[in-house]
Amino acid sequence: MDVSEFRRRGKEAVDAIADYYESMADAAPLPTVEPGYLYKLVPREAPEEPEPFDDIIKDMETKIMPGVTHWQSGNFFGWYPCNSSFPGILGEMYSAMFNVVGFSWLSCPAATELETVVMDWLGRLLGLDSRFLSIKEDGTEGRGGGVIQGSASEAHVVAIIAAREMALARLRAQGVRDADQMGAKMVAYFSDQTHSSGEKAAAIVGCKTRAVASDSAFRLTKEALAAAVEEDRRAGLIPFFVCGTFGTTNTAAIDDLPGIADVAGAEQLWFHVDAAYAGAALACPEFRPLARGVERADSFNFNAHKWMLTNFDCSAMWVADSTHMVNALSIHREYLPRTKGSTTFTKDYRDWQVPLGRRFRALKLWFVLRTYGAAGIRAHIRRHVEWAKWLEAQLLADGRFEMVTPVVFGLAVFRIRPAALPAPTEDAANRANAELARRINADRRVFLLGTKLRGMDVLRPAIGSSHGTKANVELLLAVILEFASAVVADCARGE
Ligand SMILES: *Cc1c(COP(=O)(O)O)cnc(C)c1O
Repeated sequence: MDVSEFRRRGKEAVDAIADYYESMADAAPLPTVEPGYLYKLVPREAPEEPEPFDDIIKDMETKIMPGVTHWQSGNFFGWYPCNSSFPGILGEMYSAMFNVVGFSWLSCPAATELETVVMDWLGRLLGLDSRFLSIKEDGTEGRGGGVIQGSASEAHVVAIIAAREMALARLRAQGVRDADQMGAKMVAYFSDQTHSSGEKAAAIVGCKTRAVASDSAFRLTKEALAAAVEEDRRAGLIPFFVCGTFGTTNTAAIDDLPGIADVAGAEQLWFHVDAAYAGAALACPEFRPLARGVERADSFNFNAHKWMLTNFDCSAMWVADSTHMVNALSIHREYLPRTKGSTTFTKDYRDWQVPLGRRFRALKLWFVLRTYGAAGIRAHIRRHVEWAKWLEAQLLADGRFEMVTPVVFGLAVFRIRPAALPAPTEDAANRANAELARRINADRRVFLLGTKLRGMDVLRPAIGSSHGTKANVELLLAVILEFASAVVADCARGE
């Protein structure tokens, strides 16, 4: 493809993308294909001879499109949102234009410095403590700073590696022999509601894990954590890391972050806050009281690609002190000269992440923050919270439903109440709610997740699509009510 064909194809692509988004307002979110569908439609080998681009685009429309899950549909309420926006897409395009591998300052000064700048912008937008910023209000360089990871899972790995380094440095300083062999005794603490990426990160790092039981509101409490740590210390283990979650994946619960900070401080644990989904809400000051305790964390992470209009992938992570992380992750080779000079603007971001190479992700974030402004981002968040609260009010007013947890952000966790069923038992309620989720998704107008919470079947639509409107949430409610009536009627008939 030469540059003149690229000009033409590129313009066609932008039109196709615009058409796609215009069709997303009420698109069916789930495809209907069966596993293995694509294998039957494509050749076994890559072509020997070049193929015309028209053929490729035609195949994309006829073979790929039918197998796409439309996360950008206004009727997609599954998992958590994965926001997209036009400035975000354009940022991705320009990033593809440069196609740099910005692992050090010299490998792309603009990518490195813009990341430092926009992560400070974003930290201020969320009201994060100045410990997490690269440049403080008075212009001095801090020990902390932000980095864009590809995912919250990678942030979890980096946080645990930094935590281990901090613990090992302390053991060595105490003169403990064989400190480096202590990995197998080290324990990372999570709750039974922590995202799976915590346990996976611990498995990668090779430490023990302990999932502390959460309370009746699905929160990790100070008391439960302190008891677990004490028990493990008595057993000769080495507690070194704890993850608190601001907005869990199941229910958007908020752990007792100040209490966890107390235990982490007393026990010298690294305190990581996973705010992958709900962190975006901190752009709105009214949510900040819920995040008390974050100012005492060692690291904090949220996904701008979930609920802040920035195309996947953009996982924003801050550390209050980068020393241990950089010590653990910097490995010297002659072909990777370390950048000398001011540490703030010449960060070698390869020492802040697992891979060496890294994408120029700061560009799309910069586009998004400037195009929407803080005001636009707050309006985006508040709109979804308002719709989620509206949905909650409608479900409660109906009388047949109960909220399993109250709506705080854009997630509504509810179920048909046992008392609304002819045989009002927990078993009957579980069957009815599982069936309700199944029928809603089989209908295909909207998509949501049915999940199990402590053995209870619940539904958890997440509202937060970039392109959705209130009309999509009204449809969601109509579909829920329609199938709830059918399910309850079938229960009455003993089906
Ligand atoms: C979505 C989510 C994650 C995982 O995010 P990735 O970026 O896909 O790794 C982690 N933690 C919480 C609380 C989440 O909701």
